Amino acid sequence: MSEKKVSEQITRSNQASISIDWSYADAPESTSHVRFNKHYGLFIDGSFTEYNENQSFESINPANGESLYRCTEANKSDVDTAVKAARKAFKGTWGSTSGTQRSHYLYRIARMLQERAREFAVLESMDGGKPIRESRDIDIPLAAAYFFYYAGWADKLAYAFPGKSPQPLGVCAQIIPWNFPLLMLAWKIAPALACGNTVVLKPAETTSLTALKFCELLQDIGLPDGVVNIVTGAAKTGEYLVQHSDIDKIAFTGSTGVGKVIQQSIAERQLPATFELGGKGAFILFDDAALNEAVEGIVNAIFFNQGHVCCAGSRLLVQEGVAEKVIDLLKKRMQHLIVGDPLDKNTDIGAVNSKEQLETIQRYVELGIQEGATCFECSGSLPTTGYYFPPTILTGVSQSSTVVQEEIFGPVLTIQTFRTTDEAIEKANNTPYGLANGIWTDKGSKIFYVGNKLKSGVVWSNTYNKFDPTSPFGGFKESGKGREGGISGLHAYLKLDHNGGMY
Ligand code: NAP
Ligand code: MG
Repeated sequence: MSEKKVSEQITRSNQASISIDWSYADAPESTSHVRFNKHYGLFIDGSFTEYNENQSFESINPANGESLYRCTEANKSDVDTAVKAARKAFKGTWGSTSGTQRSHYLYRIARMLQERAREFAVLESMDGGKPIRESRDIDIPLAAAYFFYYAGWADKLAYAFPGKSPQPLGVCAQIIPWNFPLLMLAWKIAPALACGNTVVLKPAETTSLTALKFCELLQDIGLPDGVVNIVTGAAKTGEYLVQHSDIDKIAFTGSTGVGKVIQQSIAERQLPATFELGGKGAFILFDDAALNEAVEGIVNAIFFNQGHVCCAGSRLLVQEGVAEKVIDLLKKRMQHLIVGDPLDKNTDIGAVNSKEQLETIQRYVELGIQEGATCFECSGSLPTTGYYFPPTILTGVSQSSTVVQEEIFGPVLTIQTFRTTDEAIEKANNTPYGLANGIWTDKGSKIFYVGNKLKSGVVWSNTYNKFDPTSPFGGFKESGKGREGGISGLHAYLKLDHNGGMY
């Protein structure tokens, strides 16, 4: 198999262009051209505002640490203008758009995302550092799948909630993180629009590009003005948005720390709000499991997307009798993981999203070692520019170790052993989080027994990190409140007779 490297050419003009050679052994023969601007305004009321250098910030390509594009930092007045545009659309055109018409718009978005999937995938990998294989095969197809799924519901809301006369909430303030930029946007915008709401969405500071490209797509499909507004910016922009007096709902995905700050700040307002926050998932491996397959599962659970995954299986709990063998197999498998250029199709682990996140991961590993852990890192070389961290495991940790209790959000796995099933359950549940866990065993009865006792919104069995638009996703404890996906995802964007839309 001949494996050619991606050829990349960036023209430093106002319109940067990248030509990607997809002529890998199993890739299509065609050449895809990816275009994005060097400067972006805000997307308000159907068009981009003028870019102002004095009110801007840059986004870095974490693969090389270089500036990729600049975008506008929305101030209080910009956020107000965006909310007003969303309100006007809600009271006007969008408010009188039927479920069938909304469904058509959502189908168009979904189909257009599929058509432009390669372009979106390349941009996502350049802006955020994730391997092209993941953005191409997982993020972008899934984003389209969420729009398809909610397109199907837009004209059937009355059937989803019989006898409840579902009504939209109004203007939704949505804030998303940097680990799955377009996918998190889809999780937020698709159900909101399906239910008849309008939105103002703030992407994460380090990854605004696919949200801005998405606005161009909305213009192309002719979505009415003001239905979707994108305000780029940092934490302050997010604060202006959640503090705005004319929003009807907050949907936040991000860290538990920021989620708590927002919850406190809106405590006195009767505002429907959903929070998708951090996690510290356990991957429970029993001694009856197929060990080679389980090791592949562990690799996917923790090293997918550089470990920047809220539901990552970042704690391996392995049954004592097979622990030595599993750790040995895992170390051997880790030596074959390729850390490198996100745009190279062979890359398993791309760049860490930002310098700050790289430093956070480094700090946690050092702290783990100080607290007594033994560290094993892949020995392969890392690229010399950009932000990279090798796949790492920490053994010799205890339940109270900081690295076992806190979310690292990087390619770092802690390993603990257990003797009995109940000990595994006890350890899995003993963190402040409750987002996702996995069970790996040959016995169906064990899956049901353990699954019922794990305090988490998601439990995978003999697989990990699998997402589907029909499934609800969300957490317990400090992992959040509310659900996205499936019918629960509609519930979060509707007023229903019995409880006013709160979930
Ligand atoms: P973050 O720092 O909490 O930021 C999330 C978003 O909130 C960003 O857009 C951020 O803007 C904005 N923000 C920051 N401070 C704010 C404030 N005071 N008021 C309003 N908005 C504010 O999280 P992150 O580092 O981007 O993302 C990683 C976290 O997200 C992890 O903890 C991960 O577990 C969690 N996550 C959870 C889920 C889930 O479904 N449960 C899914 C994905 C990620 P800036 O980008 O400018 O800081
Ligand atoms: Mg970036």
